Amino acid sequence: MPMTTSTLQSSAARAPLGVTVLGATGSIGVNTLDVIARHPERYRVIALSANTDAERLFEQCLAHRPEYAVLAQADAAARLAQRLRSQGLATQVLSGIGGLEQIAALPQTDCVMAAIVGAAGLAPTLAAVRAGKRVLLANKEVLVMAGALFMDEVRRYKAVLLPIDSEHNAIFQCMPGDFARGLDQVGVRRILLTASGGPFRETPLDALHAVTPEQACAHPNWVMGRKISVDSATMMNKGLEVIEACWLFNTTPERIQVVLHPQSVIHSMVEYVDGSVLAQLGNPDMRTPIAHALAWPERIASGVEALDIFSVARLDFAPPDLARFPCLRLAYQAWRAGGTAPTLLNAANECAVQAFLEGRIRFTAMPTVIERVLAELTPRAPDTLAVIVEDDLLARACARRVIEQETRRAAS
Ligand code: NAD
Ligand code: MG
Repeated sequence: MPMTTSTLQSSAARAPLGVTVLGATGSIGVNTLDVIARHPERYRVIALSANTDAERLFEQCLAHRPEYAVLAQADAAARLAQRLRSQGLATQVLSGIGGLEQIAALPQTDCVMAAIVGAAGLAPTLAAVRAGKRVLLANKEVLVMAGALFMDEVRRYKAVLLPIDSEHNAIFQCMPGDFARGLDQVGVRRILLTASGGPFRETPLDALHAVTPEQACAHPNWVMGRKISVDSATMMNKGLEVIEACWLFNTTPERIQVVLHPQSVIHSMVEYVDGSVLAQLGNPDMRTPIAHALAWPERIASGVEALDIFSVARLDFAPPDLARFPCLRLAYQAWRAGGTAPTLLNAANECAVQAFLEGRIRFTAMPTVIERVLAELTPRAPDTLAVIVEDDLLARACARRVIEQETRRAAS
């Protein structure tokens, strides 16, 4: 639609959108606030949350003056409240899961950025969905652990779900607007999900056991939180993303081809029955998908530099190597097993990654831990949230046992 004086006037007169950022102090949270700060006339920060990083949350509160802030622990929240009051801010500081659920569902919040890492994000993201918000979903673990239930709630409460994960945001941009009717109905044949292959794409296989957390977190193209960086190095991230795409686009892994693409310039592609392949390209900077989802269906500046196609010069593609990346194979296995198997996979992976980051197990022990958990526990029908939470806890207990055995074995 051409921009006329009247459309310009109506967008200028519109009240700013109220935004809650869950996980404000993380990599996605910081990038979200960066985009928001570029458009003070369009967005108003209603609430911010952090787990333990009170210092960064304090600074973010000074800059964005939210109505609410949330920290995990009550005593830390009380200290933050006092510091903010001494700066003349009236920000109410809440704590715990209850506080997160509250800021996700506030009437003055239109839009919730779900950027907590891991299963801890499930309850507040569900609260945003049940309040019918526009939910910007970065927290892919939520869809892996509770996809069927989550998507049912999105439909029931008419929430608007927009993917932030760069690949899923790219796919969303390349899909027709009515893709929810079904991929066959809209002429989509396949999704081509790109993956950089992480820092160990070409490392000799026998050197992988000695990889350190620092090496695993040094991603060649993206700067991210430590958990997703390790997931990218094992390619569990791509496994989680295949499952995420199945739920978001109502399809199965058979219609999703993972494509190694080391330059991370094409963020994913959609192949149509007529032979067309649509791709979304850009510099690897999360502010692009964040700005896309914040403004959708409009477009706003994100601060990301224009892609210099001449300096990119070439794009490479290859199929993934499941022998090098057993975590990707395990994710496919969990999807095929069905029920709560992806819940078990996600929980085991979170424990394995944490143990690796703490130096308790080797890089190559992560898939061993996950495989053992999947072998020892029987998935159930993921009918209720109680079952999902219970299986998540069972898988964590099982993973802890396996990790202890691994640690003892390595020490002997
Ligand atoms: P991060 O570790 O940098 O930040 C995580 C945020 O969640 C922090 O604000 C932290 O305080 C909060 N948090 C952590 N544990 C919590 C808990 N138990 N309770 C409450 N809050 C908690 O992570 P990130 O890289 O920003 O990733 C966030 C999510 O977005 C992840 O699910 C990740 O897979 C996804 N994602 C990230 C990127 C990226 O580029 N960073 C890209 C795609 C998807
Ligand atoms: Mg991604």
